[in-house]
Amino acid sequence: MTQNLPNTAPTSNNSTRKVTLLGLGAMGSAFARAWLAAGYEVTVWNRTPPRATALGEEGAKVAASVADAVAAGPLIVTVLLDDASVTSVLDGVDLTGKDLVDLTTGTPESARARARWAAERGARFADGGIMAVPPMVGIPEAGGYVFYSGSQELFDEHHATLAVPLGTRFVGTDAGFASLHDIALLSGMYGMFAGITHAFALIRGEQDIKPSEFAPLLAGWLGAMSGMVHDTAARLESGDYATGVASNLAMQTAGVPTFVATAEQYGVSTELLSPLFALMERQVAAGGGAMDTAALVDPLRT
Ligand code: NDP
Repeated sequence: MTQNLPNTAPTSNNSTRKVTLLGLGAMGSAFARAWLAAGYEVTVWNRTPPRATALGEEGAKVAASVADAVAAGPLIVTVLLDDASVTSVLDGVDLTGKDLVDLTTGTPESARARARWAAERGARFADGGIMAVPPMVGIPEAGGYVFYSGSQELFDEHHATLAVPLGTRFVGTDAGFASLHDIALLSGMYGMFAGITHAFALIRGEQDIKPSEFAPLLAGWLGAMSGMVHDTAARLESGDYATGVASNLAMQTAGVPTFVATAEQYGVSTELLSPLFALMERQVAAGGGAMDTAALVDPLRT
């Protein structure tokens, strides 16, 4: 069950208005500044110490070592480059009784392994997937949030603190779910990027079509089409791919040569669209011509 909670001002008492942050890259620094602005006691550590200097001047306590940073409070947040850097930073550090929140991007399996790793060291664990870029941190109107999964108790206890930099969405006690949600949303985004890239490559061949005039048309169309995700979800849950289909796969696949020919006429590679077209053709060949595009989901699973 997804729990949607706004990033409102914290209501925790003074004993919990404390956070340790390991990793002061673009994202970690933004988190640190959001907590400082909200009046938190923030202890920071970074592998390359000069990166912590500015935050120290802004009020953060700069720890001399990871062990000192971890000892400073109950809540430890890591915002490091990758899972390997989390291991190298925390290996050998006493985490007994600590609450570890790892916002470093990783796979569902690496999050589950990290949860087991934390439990072996006597720590509670939650993983996080950040759905924002650094300029959105600390600005509720920007709409950024973090998917959390793992220890529900940790999340509930520290929610006020976690909700300061960005909104929060707890998506389950399986530690891998935050990462899975994160990667799934970003995968949808990359598919959209592929379509956007192809569309602009096509109009690039015409000097009389300005990208800035085409852009609102493309944005409007993508927005209008995005509603299909709900129909796809309903069909995946019901298993009904054939009832009330407005644009079936046979019709859409019949249009593929038109897309390929237009791309050829404008000297545009079809490499970004070809994999989807191939999947559509496979599903039609398998007898799915009358079906909705939702019927492509399961055949994609290997
Ligand atoms: P940066 O590259 O700006 O910072 C990386 C941080 O990791 C630095 O503090 C760096 O330390 C540290 N680091 C890297 N390798 C090691 C190591 N082996 N040992 C110790 N520390 C190490 O990245 P971001 O801050 O932008 O990203 C941090 C995390 O947030 C990533 O997992 C990223 O995927 C995620 N994220 C970032 C977004 C963004 O738009 N920036 C959006 C959503 C998620 P040092 O200063 O010493 O190099």
